Amino acid sequence: MTNLILRLALPSPLRRLFDYRAPPGVPASALQPGTRLRVPFGRREVVGVLVETAPHSDVPEDKLKAALQLLDSRPLLPPALFRLCLWTAQYYQHSLGDTLSWALPVLLRQGEPAEVRQEQVWTQVPGASLDDPRLSRAPRQREALRTLAQHPQGVPHSLLGKLELNRDSLELLRDKGLVQVSVRARTVKPHHGGWLAQAELPLNAEQSAATEAVRASFGGFRPFLLAGVTGSGKTEVYLQLIRQTLEAGKQALVLIPEINLGPQTLDRFARRFNARIALLHSGLNDRERLDAWLAARDGDAEIVIGTRSALFTPLKNPGLIIVDEEHDASYKQQEGLRYHARDLALMRARQENLPILLGSATPSLESLHNAATGRYALLKLTQRAGGAQAPRFLRLDVKSLPLDSGISGPLQQAMRQTLEAGQQVLVFLNRRGFAPTLFCQDCGWISQCPRCDARMTVHQRHHELRCHHCGHAERTPHNCPKCNHVDLRPLGTGTERAEERLNTLFPDYPVLRIDRDSTARKGAMEQLFTTINKGEPCVLVGTQMLAKGHHFPRVTLVAILDADGGLFSADFRAPERMAQMIVQVAGRAGRADQPGRVIIQSQLADHPLLVQLTEQGYFAFAEQALAERRAAGLPPFSHLALLRAEAHRPGQAEGFLDLACVEAEALLEELQVAGGIELLGPVPAPMERRAGRYRAQLLLQGNSRAPLHRLLHAWLPRLEQLPDSRAVRWSLDVDPIDLF
Ligand code: ADP
Ligand code: ZN
Ligand code: ZN
Repeated sequence: MTNLILRLALPSPLRRLFDYRAPPGVPASALQPGTRLRVPFGRREVVGVLVETAPHSDVPEDKLKAALQLLDSRPLLPPALFRLCLWTAQYYQHSLGDTLSWALPVLLRQGEPAEVRQEQVWTQVPGASLDDPRLSRAPRQREALRTLAQHPQGVPHSLLGKLELNRDSLELLRDKGLVQVSVRARTVKPHHGGWLAQAELPLNAEQSAATEAVRASFGGFRPFLLAGVTGSGKTEVYLQLIRQTLEAGKQALVLIPEINLGPQTLDRFARRFNARIALLHSGLNDRERLDAWLAARDGDAEIVIGTRSALFTPLKNPGLIIVDEEHDASYKQQEGLRYHARDLALMRARQENLPILLGSATPSLESLHNAATGRYALLKLTQRAGGAQAPRFLRLDVKSLPLDSGISGPLQQAMRQTLEAGQQVLVFLNRRGFAPTLFCQDCGWISQCPRCDARMTVHQRHHELRCHHCGHAERTPHNCPKCNHVDLRPLGTGTERAEERLNTLFPDYPVLRIDRDSTARKGAMEQLFTTINKGEPCVLVGTQMLAKGHHFPRVTLVAILDADGGLFSADFRAPERMAQMIVQVAGRAGRADQPGRVIIQSQLADHPLLVQLTEQGYFAFAEQALAERRAAGLPPFSHLALLRAEAHRPGQAEGFLDLACVEAEALLEELQVAGGIELLGPVPAPMERRAGRYRAQLLLQGNSRAPLHRLLHAWLPRLEQLPDSRAVRWSLDVDPIDLF
């Protein structure tokens, strides 16, 4: 026996490794970093990942337990990806064990073998006959044999249920020697004429230049920002680069935002290539996820497409990473390990020596800044592909106009005109439900959520008030709960109300609502799209679900009912988000031969950012917005980390943060990194109470990243030691994108 100590990352929030002795009988050479082991942990058994071995441990000999079992004969992850996980845990100040839990498929965390499942296949034994006398009194077995006889290739175990084949009957048939079960060998790669299943479009000059630039960087790390207006053919650039990646014998990883994971996007990839595509998204079951992950790791899938967490998919032969709609907020995980998949994709590309292409019509200010400073190569597509024209903008000042369920008179006219011309209208309103508040005319009561500092939204169709922050719901009262009068009025407009009003305004045209409520039913979204694609005049009203990735060739008028939230908000990122939203929604208009119009209703129609955006476009807006960020010392000109805390007792979260603040100040002295780091707070969160808890936050702002991270690294272990650190729920968000 060796006295080798294994240092493991375990699924625990604690930011440390755990020491074990080697499992009995396992040679030291088999214990490679990156392999999984089953170990005793408290009263449970858990699966950990070996990070390193050491000759001795600080844990006393008699306390040191032995690992139970080695689960892998080789490291689970390729070295580069394992290093990325280590880096991720460090950077986001998160426990390594928990980081690996986010990065690995559930079944692997549970100890499932990391091998492609050898599937059992049931086949009829040659010569077996339905007339076998042993079956004369066994109708079910006879039926099962008949079904198998119809499948000469055999029936895989997973399909037994679908074919109504009963396992017991098959076992009995096997005992009689009429049926056999075998393990199907892994399918051999099909030979095919080429990677393309469909002809490529001839690229225009800008597309060619972009494609050529990235191709020239194959084999080395280089980040590119593909800034292409909506409909400029970014996807075609991706597709042609993927083809070139496949031709080079490599795999491509494509990250897409959650909302783009529609059949439309995926079809485009699937139809183009004779290649295996592994899809990784939240809709998969655990087995499907593991199979896709293994196919990517073993090189059986040449193309990997997925949402945020697909970033952690191992690739045997990585050649290219693409991040589509790189500005999209869904790349940032907002719980547990608060990573940004785009930022990690860059780190991954660097570690694996790959080109990476970030694409968007509305790049994040961070990425534009990186392009401006030369860290990213900027590739521009300025024209819509296929000849469609850019939409025209009109800012409609509604300061002194009466709004009818949020819709002004001039807007109604424009809509009527469009519908009468046989075209479609898209009405965008980023608020679901009927109205954001219920209000008593008599005493001023408003529909406050009992668990949050927020108002409950009126959902008329379900006669409910719902809190969109904690999920609390109650029946809409008939009388005011405070003064008992019946003068309750919904205030403001949500999609449900807009839909109702549009139905009365335009009774001759269908009004289709598209939001989380109307598409909750399975297949509802497809049904709506089928109607839209018929091309008949209609009105689409919906939330950001409408804004992204879709082609609505017959939409020629886009109406944005309320753009002002982004101009009033306290969040410094709000104008950026508003601009991205407007441009993305506008991008749905006039994508085919008819030119499109965009009407933006605003109380602040002369706001400089709005003027710049609509008259000079997103890039002019972004330049202006970046100048403002620079003047205010905000990201990307500084770096942030946000410590959030919440507790049941008022003041408790702030108490914890006060102590945290004291620790941070002490550390700034000790580490002598004081220069350029500011502690802002603690302050109550903008929504102080949510779901019954009181919340507060402490913001750290640093001029440069390294000292800030040095502080965080020393700070976190101290926070774990604070007296309230278990009573208070707290978390650190490095590079937060929401400041609440
Ligand atoms: P984006 O991803 O930038 O929104 P798409 O790649 O979806 O743009 O392209 C928009 C439309 O233009 C699609 O219908 C696409 O088929 C078409 N298109 C793209 N590139 C070309 C090209 N080079 N020639 C003709 N049509 C093109
Ligand atoms: Zn009242
Ligand atoms: Zn609530």
